[in-house]
Amino acid sequence: MPGKFDKKYEICPVCRSVSIHHYHADYRENDIDKCDQCGVQFMNPVYSDAYLTDYYAGYITPEYTQKTLDEQHEVCQQNFKAIHRFMPDQGEMLDFGLGNGTYALHARDLGWQVSGYDVDCATTEELAKKMNMDVRCGDFDKLDWGDKKFDLIYAHHVMEHLKDPLARLKSFHSIMNEEGYLYIGVPNISAWGSRIKFLLEKLGLKKNKIGRYYDSEHHIFYYNPASLSKLLQMSGFKLVYKSNASKPKPYQNIFIKFLRQNVKEKLSAGVAFFVIAQKID
Ligand SMILES: [Zn+2]
Repeated sequence: MPGKFDKKYEICPVCRSVSIHHYHADYRENDIDKCDQCGVQFMNPVYSDAYLTDYYAGYITPEYTQKTLDEQHEVCQQNFKAIHRFMPDQGEMLDFGLGNGTYALHARDLGWQVSGYDVDCATTEELAKKMNMDVRCGDFDKLDWGDKKFDLIYAHHVMEHLKDPLARLKSFHSIMNEEGYLYIGVPNISAWGSRIKFLLEKLGLKKNKIGRYYDSEHHIFYYNPASLSKLLQMSGFKLVYKSNASKPKPYQNIFIKFLRQNVKEKLSAGVAFFVIAQKID
């Protein structure tokens, strides 16, 4: 029976710096380290591949409520509004981390030629038939896309799950057209709420569910805009846009929503953010 964890990292798994230190330990008894060089935080030791494979085989729940779907649609609208500022003409897109397919279908409706990828083959193949789309699964580095090159790679809330984010971004780089764009949405470990909780925990004033905001049940890397920018730089991308991700609230009063998005969410770092980056070399 393989273990739940890999051997501990001695160097930063992103920038390979030896300058890493223990930063926090959460209530799930996972240790979190931080790199002094690139600023990324990561679980150390990290879950083994065997553990993660088993976990992701049961990850996509078959039941999506209407509310969840409506929230996903609102997220799509927000994300593609930003993407289309840089890419007014739609081309080939890869949805990396297909999930239940909502984002890919939305993009196809907007005129993109969409292909998809997700890690678990059983779930993904079933979805591919339903969606009538070129959908791949398994070991990403072994996939053969033929002559296909992507103008846009869309990775919504997947980078925080990946064990080697630098290698993945480099592989994205190799299957993209020159000057293609990459969208990445991730949780923000420097969110205002998480920073307050972290401080209270370090002061011993908060003792319940310590570090819950790490979501270390399945998240293994913890980014903020600065550390994600460095990762992008290291893998041949130039950051062109970053934004707080507005919390989807499809049924909120339109006036209240306007205030929330244009005042509250402009003033403080929310729980998630997204970036758009361009392939440069
Ligand atoms: Zn680093």
